[in-house]
Amino acid sequence: SPVPTIVLNSGKSIPQLGFGVFLVDPADTQRVVEDALEVGYRHIDTATGYNNEAEVGAALRASGIPREEIFVTTKLRNDHHKARDVEGAFARSLDALGLDYLDLYLIHWPMPANDFYVDTWRTFETFAADGRAASIGVSNFLIPHLQRLLAETDIVPAVNQVELHPIFQQRELRAFQAEHGIQTEAWGPLGQGKYDLFGMQAIQDAAAAHGVQPAQVVLRWHLQTGNIVIPKSNRRERMAQNFDLFGFELSADEMAAIDALDENRRVGGNPADIN
Ligand code: NAD
Repeated sequence: SPVPTIVLNSGKSIPQLGFGVFLVDPADTQRVVEDALEVGYRHIDTATGYNNEAEVGAALRASGIPREEIFVTTKLRNDHHKARDVEGAFARSLDALGLDYLDLYLIHWPMPANDFYVDTWRTFETFAADGRAASIGVSNFLIPHLQRLLAETDIVPAVNQVELHPIFQQRELRAFQAEHGIQTEAWGPLGQGKYDLFGMQAIQDAAAAHGVQPAQVVLRWHLQTGNIVIPKSNRRERMAQNFDLFGFELSADEMAAIDALDENRRVGGNPADIN
């Protein structure tokens, strides 16, 4: 595979480029994931909340690719940690996916007002200890939430999967995470189509200079920044485009021009307010 791997603090390796299945209709998911695997992706990011774990599992089996060659992530749905049903939810995810271990299990959102996430994390540590989760991590955690885990629990999250794209670059969080050995994984890496990212001058200029599509420039910027990245598309030609990132390199000037697009502005929900 042309995709570089990153070694997590668990000692396990993650392919830096993966494929996300948020908002992929369950009726389409098996076909979409089979296409992604054929294109070459070996890292699939789903969540219980996406309602397509079973269809992801069906695609994994249909592909015939050995289990150990595919990196699979899923996430604990908010209502399960609220209900203190973390163990049950984890077992049901494994069952739906048809797997006996996950490569990465994430707390989907911290839901700080409920104050469950430290307890939930202690349960996650048992999944790491018994090997059913090769690595454990979090998603949508703000610095104060990470600080509590660092202070009150034993295992440092392997990753924090957060909203991250050129107008919301998460500089402060990335620096904090780098200091603590937590890898940054970017969700909505293409801005979820919520603003005209591909029309921005810095992106257009780099795309023209390298003879590639704007989406490829943005994903290449993520890789060169050091982010783990999981773009989504239902369309095979875009899946292939988003995987074709290893035949060009952005210059320091092109990277700086994209860095300068940061407005520190989210397009998704603020984790502090989601409960
Ligand atoms: P994204 O930024 O990957 O955008 C996806 C959209 O971009 C597609 O629907 C398509 O319209 C467009 N697109 C994709 N490739 C393109 C191309 N080559 N050219 C033009 N347009 C293209 O947004 P996303 O799907 O929300 O994020 C990626 C993944 O991150 C998700 O599928 C999911 O796995 C994960 N995610 C996690 C969270 C979380 O809370 N942890 C939240 C959102 C997404």
